[in-house]
Amino acid sequence: MSETYDFLFKFLVIGNAGTGKSCLLHQFIEKKFKDDSNHTIGVEFGSKIINVVNKFVKLQIWDTAGQERFRSVTRSYYRGAAGALLVYDITSRETYNALTNWLTDARMLASQNIVIILCGNKKDLDADREVTFLEASRFAQENELMFLETSALTGENVEEAFVQCARKILNKIDSGELDPERMGSGIQYGDATLRQLRSPRRAQAQSAQECGC
Ligand code: GDP
Ligand code: MG
Repeated sequence: MSETYDFLFKFLVIGNAGTGKSCLLHQFIEKKFKDDSNHTIGVEFGSKIINVVNKFVKLQIWDTAGQERFRSVTRSYYRGAAGALLVYDITSRETYNALTNWLTDARMLASQNIVIILCGNKKDLDADREVTFLEASRFAQENELMFLETSALTGENVEEAFVQCARKILNKIDSGELDPERMGSGIQYGDATLRQLRSPRRAQAQSAQECGC
């Protein structure tokens, strides 16, 4: 099968244990709910190519794989991530209260420009809700995060969360705010982009030199 893509982004899924991170990853990749009966330890990684604003983007997504249970999510896990899903459980205020700690770690240990989307997961359990949509959206605004409520059970907004995060990264590349060539950006060019880039870039550089302005 062809593996042609324009960009590759490294993504993380972070948040307290039990918020549904592994299920979100599974739902995104497999398009189905990972029920507890097929619980496999060590599915820590998934990748998928998505189409966003006419670009093919390969997302390489890392799951904490249970490290967060021991509050020992390592530096190497964060290193060079372009995007992250920061997950809490709308039925657990405790997981919401932990968001500030997760944010501090992500901003300190990941790439400085990491794009984060806040995901209030288990949207299907509205009757047991402990955190309102409004409260979380204010938190997101104050902390410059995108925000969605998701359900790994029904699949609602799961693809959207990954796509919105990828779209924001692409926008930042387009505007020059993010430089894919900077070390640790979490972004790599795919074959498709490399082929396109080679000639036009060189031509641009040359004409800038000739202009002398
Ligand atoms: P993790 O520790 O953050 O990786 O969480 P898991 O993905 O292992 O999920 C923890 C528990 O929450 C499991 O029992 C899942 O079945 C359940 N769960 C995950 N996502 C959802 C969801 O969107 N809705 C509901 N109702 N349960 C969920
Ligand atoms: Mg997990």
